[in-house]
Amino acid sequence: MAIRYIRNDPGIAPVMETVRSPLPNRVGSVAKLKMSAAPPEQVFPRNDDPGFVYWQCREASLLALSVWEHIDRPLPRWQSQSRVLALHHDHPAGLEASYDRSALAFSRWDDSRGTLTFPGASTDAVAHEVGHAVLDAVRPEFWHSYFSEVAAFHEAFADCLALLVSLFDDEVRRALVANAPAPQQALDTANPLATIAESVAQAFQVSWDPKHPNTRARSANNQLQWVLPVTLPPTAPAGHLSQEPHSFGQIFTGCFYDTVNNIYKSLPAQDEAALFSAAETAGRLLAVAAGNAAPEKRFFRGAGAHMILADNDQNGGANHLAIRDAFGAHGVALGSSTTLAPTMALAGPPPTVTSEVASSRGLSAKTRSDLCKRIGVPSRTRITLEPMRIGATRLAKAQFQRDVRLSGIHRKLRGVVARSIDAVQLGAHGKRCAVLGHLSDGTDSEEEISAFVEGLIGAGALILGSRKQAARARRPGPDPKPSHAVRKIGSKKRVTRVRFSCLPPGLRWTRS
Ligand SMILES: [Zn+2]
Repeated sequence: MAIRYIRNDPGIAPVMETVRSPLPNRVGSVAKLKMSAAPPEQVFPRNDDPGFVYWQCREASLLALSVWEHIDRPLPRWQSQSRVLALHHDHPAGLEASYDRSALAFSRWDDSRGTLTFPGASTDAVAHEVGHAVLDAVRPEFWHSYFSEVAAFHEAFADCLALLVSLFDDEVRRALVANAPAPQQALDTANPLATIAESVAQAFQVSWDPKHPNTRARSANNQLQWVLPVTLPPTAPAGHLSQEPHSFGQIFTGCFYDTVNNIYKSLPAQDEAALFSAAETAGRLLAVAAGNAAPEKRFFRGAGAHMILADNDQNGGANHLAIRDAFGAHGVALGSSTTLAPTMALAGPPPTVTSEVASSRGLSAKTRSDLCKRIGVPSRTRITLEPMRIGATRLAKAQFQRDVRLSGIHRKLRGVVARSIDAVQLGAHGKRCAVLGHLSDGTDSEEEISAFVEGLIGAGALILGSRKQAARARRPGPDPKPSHAVRKIGSKKRVTRVRFSCLPPGLRWTRS
């Protein structure tokens, strides 16, 4: 039997579709997705038929997983350590796409003018959510980071995976090269592959104020320039950059897209096969960077530098300029040679981390005490060490948590903290322990974290209104679901992430 599958997104004209057998189920010791009972395998002609949405969502999610495993390695488990993650292709009414560690969920939106939109029918939107789940399985600590660039990278990584799903599709590549003015310009001009979830943007255009940021689909093919995130507004009208992670993440997605393009142009010939090769190379570098870069406030720079280090390792540095120029075009200067350079010696010997498992032991009392002083945390702070090898350098990633008081931001945040993950790279310098790369004393981190939380409030992603408002936001239905909430954890009240909510509400704009 066969099903109808729409490549990329149903909002593209002309739509790129095919009729084919569905992908086989994932078997063996790998992460899997659990959907509701399957409708019959058949060619559902309508995009708003839940039967079509089921097969489309299944196909897109399996493709996204296979692309990730092609550029990285088989994904054994989800963040929960379970092999199974629920996938709801047709959740209750709303315009939502989310990942909350227990499920990937896509709602349906009835614009009351006779059009039903299913984000679960968009290959882009589905691959984006799978991207969040994959990155959460690989780097669970990012969930608790309150640095704008780490939150934005989560969104960018998800968009990059959506982009790669399209670039790994032979038919999409053939069309892209054939429709370009010249083969070497395949990625230069506006193209549907670079634009994320056009159909969802179209649904917003019908139902919301035209200034709502979601009325314009995000594009990886952009000229956006990096600025310090604290200088941006919490949210901004369509087409303008803001601190909101999906918006700010476009800068990193732009850097990645330009990396693919620069690698493509550096190959001996430009055709569909070269485009695949460039996407595969850049994808593999992104996978290493996503796995290695520390969750620090200048994360875009760190991840880009790790792409260069990975390229030295995998390709002898053949793509160094392609990566450097791509990030430079967006104002992200990469000092890859300083990423692992010793910046200061700590009192005490280097860590002894030999096991592949993270451990809280391995730091001498002297090294530990000096490190806590310099990073500005109490001396009893738990520090977890994880061994890493980057090229020829062996090092230990030291991770710790930092409580940032939020009382000054809002009266309802009196006594509330944000517990953010921070990390330092440690290595040996002679007989002493040395900090490799950047070290923050915490004061600048506090400013960034406070600005991030203010941004959440401004964008409606953290609701501090009445209990009624908060309860309404929790109910299934058309009200937008916030990404963060205040929860009592242990003895402290904390702002904590509850989900990646991928069609952010944007409080300033109303439904039309
Ligand atoms: Zn997202």
